Amino acid sequence: MSSTIKAEPTKQLYVQEPKNQVYKKTKFNQCNDMQADQGNIELTLLGTGCPSVDLDRLGPANLVDGGPSSRLLIDCGSGVTHRLLEAGCPGSQLDALLITHLHSDHIVDLFQLIISSWHQGRKYPQRIFGPPGTKKFVDGLMKLWAPELTQRVAHEKRPSAAALETEVTEISDGDTLNFKHITVKVVEVNHLPVRHAFGFIFETSNARLAISGDTTYCPALIKAAKNVDMLVHEVLIHRELPIIDGVRSAETVTAMQAYHTVSNQVGKVASEAGVGKLVLTHFVPPKFDYKSLLDEVQQDFSGPIIIGEDLMKLSVS
Ligand SMILES: [Zn+2]
Ligand SMILES: [Zn+2]
Repeated sequence: MSSTIKAEPTKQLYVQEPKNQVYKKTKFNQCNDMQADQGNIELTLLGTGCPSVDLDRLGPANLVDGGPSSRLLIDCGSGVTHRLLEAGCPGSQLDALLITHLHSDHIVDLFQLIISSWHQGRKYPQRIFGPPGTKKFVDGLMKLWAPELTQRVAHEKRPSAAALETEVTEISDGDTLNFKHITVKVVEVNHLPVRHAFGFIFETSNARLAISGDTTYCPALIKAAKNVDMLVHEVLIHRELPIIDGVRSAETVTAMQAYHTVSNQVGKVASEAGVGKLVLTHFVPPKFDYKSLLDEVQQDFSGPIIIGEDLMKLSVS
């Protein structure tokens, strides 16, 4: 018995504007010299998935490119180093990593990022900004791999081992991080019981971008994201989470909804913040009906809504 597999499924893009005006999808190694002009922000959605593995949506991560010395990676979910390469910005070229919170889906590929950046010839330590607990996590990670790494460094004799050093700064609500062409405001969001979870507001002379991180409906985020050009927000699609024996109980669904933003709320967040565009990401679950989601969110937000996909590149303006 044989089955037919469609090699190149036709992809329908779910955006409210003509697609060419909204984004272009980056192609493998095509944009190695890509860098935002000073004052602009180029956003690439690297991973739009969640902990359950999906072949189209890798783990949570975003690339925020604010120009020279201002290329920031936000979170490093599963597969991020491959996505960075596809987006034309290998880990060796990053200026800093910002971690929203210490849930595994947002940090699981950190060691792979460090090692691959070293192999790519990075000459500088990894600068990492994250919530309280980040230092302990990074120190523990490097300690766990120390026997392998010590042997590898001694054996391979690469010109520099600077990339294997980490400079960790733990951040707090209200902090402002200053990079060459972009500033980042840290906002504590509500992802309880996770004690410290942050959203970020990025600002250059021409553009403002907010990334929610993982959060339930959060007034502090709405206030901080007031009138931004673009809001990238997580979403949980409640009707797509049936109770499945051995996988998900009613209690599981209730618990998930309690610390994520449900799809019938996310449009209200965008509307109350008065944002220019809403980009949805971190889809729970990663497979869902696009049109139903768009219809639902449109009921509360009349601006452009973009259902994010991995490697979507968006100019923030
Ligand atoms: Zn989380
Ligand atoms: Zn998450």
